Amino acid sequence: MRTCLACMRKKPKGELVRLFLDPESGLVLIDAKATMEGRGGYACRECLPDLRLNRRIQRAFRNGVKQLCVAQDIDIKEINLNP
Ligand SMILES: [Zn+2]
Repeated sequence: MRTCLACMRKKPKGELVRLFLDPESGLVLIDAKATMEGRGGYACRECLPDLRLNRRIQRAFRNGVKQLCVAQDIDIKEINLNP
């Protein structure tokens, strides 16, 4: 079980979207394939628009976050992790 960073509900990993911190840019991005190394976090799909850069999220990513890069109405399949 993993905890959503927005609503704090615990859900099975497969029902949550994995987020990861890109250490070079300081952006939190969606890990569409759930294969990225490094610090990660989880959120429900429906919670993604509600995510805010707060202390909980900073703690989850060891204070390395410069910006949350999680847009509304995301189609996760369309996200290109290697732009
Ligand atoms: Zn949630």
